[in-house]
Amino acid sequence: FNGPLERVDSCCVRIPKSYKAGMRVDGMIFANERLMEAIREGNAADQVANVATLPGIQGASLAMPDIHWGYGFCIGGVCATDPLEGGVISPGGVGYDINCGVRLVKTNLFWNEIKPHVRELVKALFYSVPSGVGRTGKYKFDAKETRRLMGQGPQFVVNRDCGVPKDLEYTEANGFIADGDPDQVTDHAVKRGSDQCGTLGSGNHFMEVQVVDAVVDAEVAKVFGLELNQVCVMIHSGSRGLGYQVCDDALSLFRNLDKKYGIDLPDRQLACAPAESPEGKKYIAAMRAAANYGFCNRQLLMQQAREVFAHVFGRTWQDLEMHQLYDVAHNIAKLEEHTVDGKKKKVWVHRKGATRAFPAGHPEVPEQFRHVGQPVIIPGDMGRASWVLVGAPGSMEKTFGTTCHGAGRAMSRTAAVKAAGGKRIDKELESRGVIAMASSRLGLAEEQPNAYKNVDHVVEVVHDADLSRKVARMRPIGVIKG
Ligand code: 5GP
Ligand code: MN
Ligand code: MN
Repeated sequence: FNGPLERVDSCCVRIPKSYKAGMRVDGMIFANERLMEAIREGNAADQVANVATLPGIQGASLAMPDIHWGYGFCIGGVCATDPLEGGVISPGGVGYDINCGVRLVKTNLFWNEIKPHVRELVKALFYSVPSGVGRTGKYKFDAKETRRLMGQGPQFVVNRDCGVPKDLEYTEANGFIADGDPDQVTDHAVKRGSDQCGTLGSGNHFMEVQVVDAVVDAEVAKVFGLELNQVCVMIHSGSRGLGYQVCDDALSLFRNLDKKYGIDLPDRQLACAPAESPEGKKYIAAMRAAANYGFCNRQLLMQQAREVFAHVFGRTWQDLEMHQLYDVAHNIAKLEEHTVDGKKKKVWVHRKGATRAFPAGHPEVPEQFRHVGQPVIIPGDMGRASWVLVGAPGSMEKTFGTTCHGAGRAMSRTAAVKAAGGKRIDKELESRGVIAMASSRLGLAEEQPNAYKNVDHVVEVVHDADLSRKVARMRPIGVIKG
């Protein structure tokens, strides 16, 4: 990126709107000097500038420190538009994997107790939780049921004994995005999703056994029910083929709409429609329904993890206290109230590889956490660390209630495979104390820890910027990957 990156403070740089014709607002990238090299080398910053041209954009076109190149919009991007000012909705601003997200499940087990069982546990997870491209699972729903599932969200699967009502309470939006319309999801998309609910999918998606490696904020950790050396399970997956197809269908529908609505796009991948237009509404209805499918997918994945733990340890999951800490969506657009230039308004917040981080007092934070803020779950990589943070007030002032979603890629998939040079990544991980199993060896190379930025460095920025604060660092001990 050769454009201007003006330092605003130690955690943030600005791309002034004078940089590119058509920019309505500045671009703002949250990054400290340590992370700037990767940003200057890549071209994701240019995508931040492109997004600043979208009609109705509010505040600034934002990017988190885990920024890297994505389809149209960068990953780690946040864009809020005002529907009353012709604000647009854009499928590329949500991403192909609608409601991809992360869930953290606690246990009452400690590192020393499970140490001798890690291999057995990872094997059991690998052989019972379906993973890999296009893999189907044990839960099969016909078209009618799949639509009902999207209409109800995880309540649908909880009603079928896959989890308990309390799980919903500890899911973003209580696991249910209202005003979706499953009938706006095409038959083709429904078909792709009907036997994939409760499966991990490929590559970057995972189920990981972790231990609390360090407690940074003892008070909040206590509220979250986390303590040193405690075992947890982190689950990362989205809406599988169904969400992908919803995005693809919308992109076909949105092709050439720029001409119809007189929108000047610097990049065709930013295809969008006014949120209040018939096409915009159609996508929103389908996207919301797909988001509910995503919550169901993670609910079923969690339930399978509970069953495996119960089997391996010979105790029920309730006895193992496998309660959900929280579940966050990191690819989604939501209509939320925010204060912009001193005025309260409802805006479409697009979070693409970005996580909601509501602070203490926000009514959408579960009651048990309301005095501290919502849990924010940040995966890092399978060799080094992941994090639990808590939403902080700065997010409401600067980023429409948002923080980062991960470490973010540092290498492309091809570069990562080349860097691995045929080395067995699973052996390397094992020597570092992590048991990894994957359905594809190539996939494991693409996902090697070095392919990602150091999550500690990324989290440092969002902490310093007061978007979300560090609570606990998690260390991986076993992982299954697609
Ligand atoms: P994305 O949703 O962009 O595909 O991935 C989110 C983040 O998950 C990535 O930026 C990366 O930091 C993290 N991640 C990817 N694979 C793994 C893994 O196997 N284990 C952990 N803990 N994090 C991962
Ligand atoms: Mn995903
Ligand atoms: Mn994801």
